[in-house]
Amino acid sequence: MTAVSVRPVLRPYQPFALRVARKQRLSPSFVRVTLTGAALADFAHHGYDQRINLIFLPPGTDHEVFAGTEDWMTEGRACGAHLRVYTVRAFRPAALEVDIDFVLHGDESPASRWASAAIGGDPVVMIGATRGHPVTDVAWKPPAAAQLLLLAADCTALPAAASILESLDRPAKAIIEVPEPDDCLPIGGNHEVTWLVRNRGERIEPVVRALLDETAPAGTVAADLTADDDVWEVPENAAGSFYAWLAGESSTVVSLRRHLVGERGVDRRSIAFMGYWKR
Ligand SMILES: Cc1cc2nc3c(=O)[nH]c(=O)nc-3n(C[C@H](O)[C@H](O)[C@H](O)COP(=O)(O)OP(=O)(O)OC[C@H]3O[C@@H](n4cnc5c(N)ncnc54)[C@H](O)[C@@H]3O)c2cc1C
Repeated sequence: MTAVSVRPVLRPYQPFALRVARKQRLSPSFVRVTLTGAALADFAHHGYDQRINLIFLPPGTDHEVFAGTEDWMTEGRACGAHLRVYTVRAFRPAALEVDIDFVLHGDESPASRWASAAIGGDPVVMIGATRGHPVTDVAWKPPAAAQLLLLAADCTALPAAASILESLDRPAKAIIEVPEPDDCLPIGGNHEVTWLVRNRGERIEPVVRALLDETAPAGTVAADLTADDDVWEVPENAAGSFYAWLAGESSTVVSLRRHLVGERGVDRRSIAFMGYWKR
């Protein structure tokens, strides 16, 4: 009889039981939490705007036991855990460390409250891509030939935009809205970054709209736009010389999409529209 070797089926995602290694206040609105854990040896880092989920468990729940649960989604719901989406700002495989940059927006919200209170040793569970599995959770997919790359982000998408910009081999334009002047965090690379400060009354929507009206090639108006106030439209096979990546508060992204795709007929395959949170 011939021996048949059966490879274990890789799950695309898995829970990683992690702990806070350290925390650094970056600016009035941002705190960087560095997470660590031996489990990260199995994490697949793909860079750019790679997203992960964080699960904040109720006090007293053993996060290692939770991470070993087969159906963590059902288990999480049952125990009243909170699941939120965040961006991998940096991954250091040798040190088994992940950096997550949190926007602090008050202690009423589970993730913001957790980040604000976090101290070394605090447990958290991260759901992320499994090493060896093709899933990437990266939305940034510009065409290879794109000459004009544009990113627009509010503060929640600043970690993703910064990570993308720092990985690019071509110059890009970015428009980033932050709450306060001191939130304009340094971003590596040779890019043209326009900062808008909310507390000074500056808003991303009119600036991005004006820039895209000037630069995005017009086409045929799309008839099949849904009227949702949620939006996650990420082109898989973008083509052409223009590519835009827009991420932030949902109603702003929806409104930009309505204008660009619904009124101006910009090819929706050249723009990623992503609602990161809902007001
Ligand atoms: C792909 C992706 C990547 C993301 N990456 C990051 C990241 O790296 N860093 C980051 O900080 N966020 C990121 N976000 C956004 C984050 O998931 C949301 O802001 C989330 O709602 C925060 O959870 P919470 O528990 O603090 O607030 P929630 O409990 O979800 O919301 C409670 C209330 O707070 C409001 N709220 C939520 N976020 C904000 C905010 N930023 N400012 C003001 N009010 C707010 C909501 O409207 C709601 O009224 C990302 C989202 C997505 C989809």
